[in-house]
Amino acid sequence: MSMIAFVNGTIVDGSGRDPYRGFVRCDGDRIVEVSSAEPARFEREIDCSGLAIAPGFLDLHSHSDLQALDGARLEKAKQGVTAEVVGNCGFSPFPRDGHAADVRDFARGIFREDGDWGWESARDYLNAAASSSGATEVHALAGHGSLRVAVAGMRQRITTPHRERMGQLLEAALDEGCAGFSTGLMYAPGSSAGPREIEPFLSLVSARDRLYATHMRSYSSGLIAALREQIGMARNTGCRIQISHLQAAGRANWGLIADALGEIEAARRDGIDIEFDIYPYQCGSTVLTQWLPRWALDGGMDAMCKRLSNERDRHRVAQHIESTIPQGWDDVTVTGVRSEANTALVGSTLADIAKRWSSEPVEAMLELLLQERGAVNVVSFNQSEENLRALLTHPLCSVISDGFYVRGLPHPRLHGTFPELLGTVVREKKWMTLAEAVHKITAKPAARLGLKERGLIARGYRADLVVFDPDRIASPATYQKPEQDPVGIAAVYRGGRHEDRTFSLAGVA
Ligand SMILES: [Zn+2]
Repeated sequence: MSMIAFVNGTIVDGSGRDPYRGFVRCDGDRIVEVSSAEPARFEREIDCSGLAIAPGFLDLHSHSDLQALDGARLEKAKQGVTAEVVGNCGFSPFPRDGHAADVRDFARGIFREDGDWGWESARDYLNAAASSSGATEVHALAGHGSLRVAVAGMRQRITTPHRERMGQLLEAALDEGCAGFSTGLMYAPGSSAGPREIEPFLSLVSARDRLYATHMRSYSSGLIAALREQIGMARNTGCRIQISHLQAAGRANWGLIADALGEIEAARRDGIDIEFDIYPYQCGSTVLTQWLPRWALDGGMDAMCKRLSNERDRHRVAQHIESTIPQGWDDVTVTGVRSEANTALVGSTLADIAKRWSSEPVEAMLELLLQERGAVNVVSFNQSEENLRALLTHPLCSVISDGFYVRGLPHPRLHGTFPELLGTVVREKKWMTLAEAVHKITAKPAARLGLKERGLIARGYRADLVVFDPDRIASPATYQKPEQDPVGIAAVYRGGRHEDRTFSLAGVA
């Protein structure tokens, strides 16, 4: 086994305590010594003068379910991420059960891969991830939406035998190594599930002390009701709950965030194990179908297209959207489409497209959905800077990427979340200290996940380390040019080995 020592650096150990000068010695894939003493000479030394040494970052919420298995995808590793949690918002690439093609259709907007992907079971997926050349360690949640579609197809209404089968598959997934369970209650058909369907699944999660992560039913005017629904289910089942990407979307709803945080704090005082997470950006990113009423998506994309081609149905859909969409038409930018014909629209807002097509914005939106068979990605201006600050700096908040791939312009969080946090949020805006920020992307998410020996620089922990320059670390990724590598990261180590696909050690003098 190889011994290696990181010397002369500033250790930001993940616990949140003040950084200190010291050295970290690793043997094989473990950290064997951490000390603030003057180092002895080591045979293999890496001089980290002027640099910080932190635990590898843990991305608690990612949608790289497929890309994390691809050794050519290095966006996460280049940010210092050594482990990530996939299977979020109800979408996982397993199981298949009777409906492999439907599961792909359901999740394609989020996973953004064609081809015959999909795994029969969590075990198959986790084995594939472990033996892949991917640059991060993968932890998977079982997605409620995928389970439901695997068992019952794209229909909204399911039967008791369907629910029983879903429970069996979830139990198997948890016993095969899934880190927990997720729901995505704004995505059809999972969105038609109420507490009566979901609670028995949460009891299975709770019995195994795994994590339940939820993309709630609403992040706009229905935010507080959605939060109360989730807290109620956690109370009834005793499960540990993580509110995914908490925010109040749309200007009219910005005032709700203080109440939302109040609800969460009150639930904690009641003994509910609840926390939340958010990405360090004011804009969100999703699929355009998210704003359609549930009934319009019943039966999948073919059924949706049929409805949008029928004048009466289309009118009803338009009315629903106009009365519920929290953002303005100027706030929503198209970032990805399927067809060649509409590629020129990428980068335009829905307001722009409406002008170009001389139609009402809602009509332009529906026409685009129809032309693209539902496959439209968007970035939307969601929340105020003040709210973002209140969320990020809250002691219950982990910081996540929520990154996903699009054919077009991905949200810059895919390439930039972690350096953006340490550069813009910590160094430029000074919203929190470096130690606090590192804690929110290492030990805190590791504890949420119940992950052992990850997230701290401490003896016996895994030798996942990031060496970076706190004065330079930044993400140049923008909404217009999102696919840009971070700067200021000198080296990334996973299991004691230099991840040489990311940064050369030349940066570490
Ligand atoms: Zn989500």
